[in-house]
Amino acid sequence: MQKELDFYLQHRKKLIAMHYVNFVIGWDMQTDAAENSILANSEQAAVISEMSYNLTTDPEYERSVGVLFKHRDELDEVLRHEIEVVYKDIQDTKKIPLDEYMAYSELTSQAYPIYVRAKNENNFELFRPYLEKIVEFCRKQTVWLQTSKVKGYDVLLDMYEPHYNQKKYDQFFKVLRKKLVPFVKRKTKKPVKVPKWATQTFEKEKQREFCEYIRDVMCFDKSRGIMKESEHPFTSGFGTDDVRITTHYYEDHLEYAIFSAIHEGGHATYEQQCDKSLNGTFSGGGASLGLHESQSRFYENIIGRSRAFWEVHYPKLQEIFAPKLNKVSLDQFVKYINRAEASFVRTEADELTYPLHIMLRYEIEQKVIAGELEVKDLPKYWNEKFTEYFGITPPTDTLGVLQDVHWAYGNFGYFPTYALGSAIAAQLYHHMNKDFDVEESLKEGTTKKINEWLRERVHKYGASKYPDEILRLATGEDFNPNYYVDYLIKKYSKK
Ligand code: ZN
Repeated sequence: MQKELDFYLQHRKKLIAMHYVNFVIGWDMQTDAAENSILANSEQAAVISEMSYNLTTDPEYERSVGVLFKHRDELDEVLRHEIEVVYKDIQDTKKIPLDEYMAYSELTSQAYPIYVRAKNENNFELFRPYLEKIVEFCRKQTVWLQTSKVKGYDVLLDMYEPHYNQKKYDQFFKVLRKKLVPFVKRKTKKPVKVPKWATQTFEKEKQREFCEYIRDVMCFDKSRGIMKESEHPFTSGFGTDDVRITTHYYEDHLEYAIFSAIHEGGHATYEQQCDKSLNGTFSGGGASLGLHESQSRFYENIIGRSRAFWEVHYPKLQEIFAPKLNKVSLDQFVKYINRAEASFVRTEADELTYPLHIMLRYEIEQKVIAGELEVKDLPKYWNEKFTEYFGITPPTDTLGVLQDVHWAYGNFGYFPTYALGSAIAAQLYHHMNKDFDVEESLKEGTTKKINEWLRERVHKYGASKYPDEILRLATGEDFNPNYYVDYLIKKYSKK
């Protein structure tokens, strides 16, 4: 086995170097590169992707992983987990017939521009034939990849969040349907008026200054990461020592950049606080999409929208934008950033109504993959369910079934991780408060104490364990959605 282990460790270095190339290129294209310098479709991009492909499908690499998997009990804990994950990835890839895979890649690349047109023109029929083929592939995928334990829609869910299946999600969404839907209906009866002060012009440079201040509040180590601008905010990292975030400034929308910076700052804290020994392995970074999202949403919503946080930092915001916010009290500001209303678009939804948008998508995907709902019936079904949960009906498909890009990419099973992230955040918050008074700790001016707790309980493990296992280690219990619903109801009952 030693020979295979040596080969694996050497080959992993090459694969990780290739990740680095792709990470830097991806970052550059989304932040600094000029519009016409797009690398995609270039000769260089084709060479790089061929090199990546050859490295991942190298027969000797595959053979070594197979041998190591057989002898995994002799490996240390971190490497054992890594080999299990890598082995499963290789096996899963092999289960998909190559011709189907190639045809599908072509289909999704064709589907994207059609989807964009269909959305812009409010024309679901244009996108329908593509979506039908995508769904057909996803249904087949559940058969190719099924095991004795994981079948149907669970196959897709497991791809995005290992070990979370319909049984767990059903319990989660059942709690939401029962407790949250009626509460949201009561709370969002009256439309919310945007106060006049919030519609002033907030200069971009000043917003940037405040976002830089926020990075210090969150103890973001600026010697190991940067912040830039992009169309859609995101976090991208290479190990613990090169963690990059972006935000986007709208001069007529002050809160957008601030909460994007806090959200991405949460993702970045996770990446920066992984154990350094995991750098250069496949076990660094976040354990899953849901767990990553739990960190960003923890900082953004639970901490960043709390009164305790702004008690300390609102004076700084007022100072930077003086005199624009001089007459806006702390209470007015906190009320404004926590307003809740029924709205059509998921990405613009507030903290309270957000999970219901996800619940709707989850239920639809479940039916579609099971073959109980056909693509042609989607717009009608979407609008009926939407009306049932929110009490309002989308006036167009653009604001309804066509609003998200995920299905055009074939990402069925992805959405639930968004809501799971918020729910895990609330569970962690409950347990953190048992160890120390979280809001009280914010009076120190930074999130240092919170970061330390999360580093010890969650971040240090990186991706060296499954997300459900990390949650158990952190809280001493399995996933429990009640903390989340209780947190939301308590918070939004106060107002
Ligand atoms: Zn996020």
